[in-house]
Amino acid sequence: MATKTQDLHILFFPYMAPGHILPMINMAKLFANRGVRTTILTTPANTSIVKPIISNSPIELALIPFPSAAAGLPEGCENLSSVPSTNLIPYFLRAVVMLSEPFDQILKELHPNITIIDGFFPWTIDITSKLGITQLVFYGTGFFPVCLIDSIEKYKPHETLPDETKSFLVPGIPHRIELLKTQVLDTSKTNKERQEFFNKVRDADKRSYGVVMNTFYELEPDYVEHYRTVIGRRAWHIGPVSLYSEDMIKSTTTTSTDRNHECLSWLDGKESGSVLYVCFGSLSTFRGEQILEIALGLEASNHAFILVVPKPVERDENMDWMPEGFEGRINIEGKKGFIIRGWAPQLLILNHKAVGGFMTHCGWNSTLEGVCAGLPMITWPLFADQFYNEKLVVDVLKIGVAVGMKEHVLKPEDRPLIHGMEIERAVNCVMGVGEEAEAMRKRARELGEMAKSAVMVDGSSYTELTRLISELSALHQ
Ligand code: UDP
Repeated sequence: MATKTQDLHILFFPYMAPGHILPMINMAKLFANRGVRTTILTTPANTSIVKPIISNSPIELALIPFPSAAAGLPEGCENLSSVPSTNLIPYFLRAVVMLSEPFDQILKELHPNITIIDGFFPWTIDITSKLGITQLVFYGTGFFPVCLIDSIEKYKPHETLPDETKSFLVPGIPHRIELLKTQVLDTSKTNKERQEFFNKVRDADKRSYGVVMNTFYELEPDYVEHYRTVIGRRAWHIGPVSLYSEDMIKSTTTTSTDRNHECLSWLDGKESGSVLYVCFGSLSTFRGEQILEIALGLEASNHAFILVVPKPVERDENMDWMPEGFEGRINIEGKKGFIIRGWAPQLLILNHKAVGGFMTHCGWNSTLEGVCAGLPMITWPLFADQFYNEKLVVDVLKIGVAVGMKEHVLKPEDRPLIHGMEIERAVNCVMGVGEEAEAMRKRARELGEMAKSAVMVDGSSYTELTRLISELSALHQ
């Protein structure tokens, strides 16, 4: 039984996707910095992500075998971002459920007294409850999107709308948030298997001890309160986790490969605040035609940019969708752009002084990282909680401009095309001159300062973490 902080042993088990693994490693680091014993559980192929980041820390690593072949996946395919086609995603989900037996075994061997487990592993709650281990849940999202999801599921305001073009106000939440029917993440409209999955997630959530959120109070104070009082769940805001550490950016999730990336020396030669960074996260794929429109829009805007080229859908794989002569024009004549194919050192780019704006798909981590860097954003949501995160950025915080994507569509080939002209307009709004753009930049800078203050000693997230650790220690005395 634990009698003090040092006797707590927390096992972190992130979902196998960059947007879940990276924040959980940072979270484990911040508990470890407070003297808590921490272990990260992941699969063998994901150690290549985890190991370089935890190398100089006391965090322990435990492995759980991933049944890729048994589930019908290619050998070594152990991360959602490496699933070769959307058709294989159900196989990945099946493999994840097959982890339950080895998970049970690992808990019996490691004896953690607390687990912080990804909300997408709802089957773990039966095992931790049986073993008497306290389970906390981590969703990799914020209070605002969770409150919107809760309200929409409870009141179903979109269901009574006559057609897809109509909008509704999200009921019972602190702000006036208007959404189109097509922007709703409607889990009841998915297939039976997915509906059952979401039901299990809800059930596991209720049975867990509480929720740990990667966010900070000042970003969404009304929604922290709403979540606790109206939804009535225990929750702790301990983020932005990417900011925790003495040398914030360098020693968090960046590696030496990140720090030596060529784009950083390219940025060194650019004027302060002049470059737009464009990245759609680790999972998004786009139609080739859409990639072409992005390139055209960026070029027409005449602002400097770094473009992390999204993966094209399978059938376009062998085709380069950049406009003819594009790379030559942007690289040689005027050095307007830098193209990255593959993994970008996002935290380092966002925090480079030359970067003045961020075009993002509004994944929660990217959104928060943009906020921390004090940047205004161009929002381009695609699926999951991203349309709700866009509302937070554009309507509540007023630090962004929407590119105009209005349909929550999973398959990239079914998504409406955003034309180059719309992209150019949004880029000019955020990167251009004028009172409105300047006011938006100022608000973004102020929020960035608040994020940094939140994680400093006596800041809101720092204090919240102290409170959480004390509560967990007391539970296990
Ligand atoms: N990321 C990165 N380089 C890339 C793409 C993504 O470092 O080229 C990181 C990004 O900084 C963020 C995470 O991967 O921490 C993506 O998480 P997010 O929630 O934004 O989106 P997801 O990938 O889950 O859709």
